[in-house]
Amino acid sequence: MKILVLNSGSSSIKYKCCEMPAHRVLASGLCEKIGEPAGRVTHHAGGREEVVEQAFPDHAAALEKVLALLTGAGGVLQRKEEIDGVGHRLVHGGEQFSGSVIVDDAVVDAVRANIPLAPLHNPPNLLGLEVARRLLPGVPQVGVFDTAFHQGMEPRAYLYALPYELYREDRIRRYGFHGTSHAYVSRRAARLLGRRAEDVNVITCHLGNGASMAAVRGGRSVDTSMGFTPLEGLVMGTRPGDFDPAVILYLLKDRAMSADDVNRLLNKQSGLLGLSGRTNDMREIEAGARNGDERAALALEVYCYRVKKYIGAMTAVLGRAHALVFTAGVGENSPTVRSKSLAGLEDMGYALDAAKNAAARGTEADISAAASRARILVIPTDEEIAIAEETYALISG
Ligand code: ADP
Repeated sequence: MKILVLNSGSSSIKYKCCEMPAHRVLASGLCEKIGEPAGRVTHHAGGREEVVEQAFPDHAAALEKVLALLTGAGGVLQRKEEIDGVGHRLVHGGEQFSGSVIVDDAVVDAVRANIPLAPLHNPPNLLGLEVARRLLPGVPQVGVFDTAFHQGMEPRAYLYALPYELYREDRIRRYGFHGTSHAYVSRRAARLLGRRAEDVNVITCHLGNGASMAAVRGGRSVDTSMGFTPLEGLVMGTRPGDFDPAVILYLLKDRAMSADDVNRLLNKQSGLLGLSGRTNDMREIEAGARNGDERAALALEVYCYRVKKYIGAMTAVLGRAHALVFTAGVGENSPTVRSKSLAGLEDMGYALDAAKNAAARGTEADISAAASRARILVIPTDEEIAIAEETYALISG
């Protein structure tokens, strides 16, 4: 069965065409700068890369080009009708979706109704969904939500101690994100331990440009660091994670910033970038710290200290973790972040093997010392493959 996975952003579409259940990637790529004068698609298939520079006035034009690349001369498909299903990454499913769904008009309406909860993400996700339904009529479309995996959290984990009316009337609560990734790597961790997902507790650290952690008990997320939006929790590339919300009042009143200014400050100018004053890229932060850049060193310290605090919190939530997983760009590739984040946690059950940690980059590895109570694992995440799995499972019944 051939599954097309789409991740539609405001000016981009990331895609992967997979043969399922073989998990074989036939083609993948990124269409960028949609709506700008100069657009570009980078298409990978059969070990080759093809770059097409072309303007895409809208998402429909971009997806048409993607379909043309998949089916054109030397393409991986003969006709677009060979696509058996399309899996869409949808960011916010609110409280309606605790799993993936086959998309119908009611699902589209529900995603639209959740736009106030994810004003930056849900509109482009919807656009991709609507365009795919139009260009591939009759092909089942599946929605896979970033929030769904965390919907099993109990009220004590998802409620903020704000006036309850704000939850009842406006649904202000913790939702959590990166659910597809947390679910995928926690399942994989159980398999690597040789145990059933139902029988293990796993802490998953998704450290990419965005970063979040989840406590997974018996295959279900019971707590997570991101909240109402992806701003809460860990330090990220350009977002601060936790801080006192009174800072926002101060910025609005004493520094006379507008709501838009504060939004930009929190989403684009904080985190590693804000602290270092230079970059949101952990590779450059680490290089800076090595070369005597004090602000880069500080950013690295704050980042890892926050990860450590959350590992403590998630360990308390679970009582004990059988495995701790590092994933995403930073988690998969940075021995420095992993060792700094776990320093001093040996008595809590997390002891690294320094040599294994240093060697683990981008591939699955057990990097724990023999004496470590919890297994410490590096597991590359693959959100697109996870979406393809969900899509395949739903449409094959
Ligand atoms: P996204 O959240 O956008 O999907 P990724 O999961 O790809 O991002 O993570 C991107 C980040 O991973 C980059 O910003 C970079 O800081 C970090 N990264 C990638 N490779 C390394 C590396 N070798 N060492 C440290 N950090 C890395």
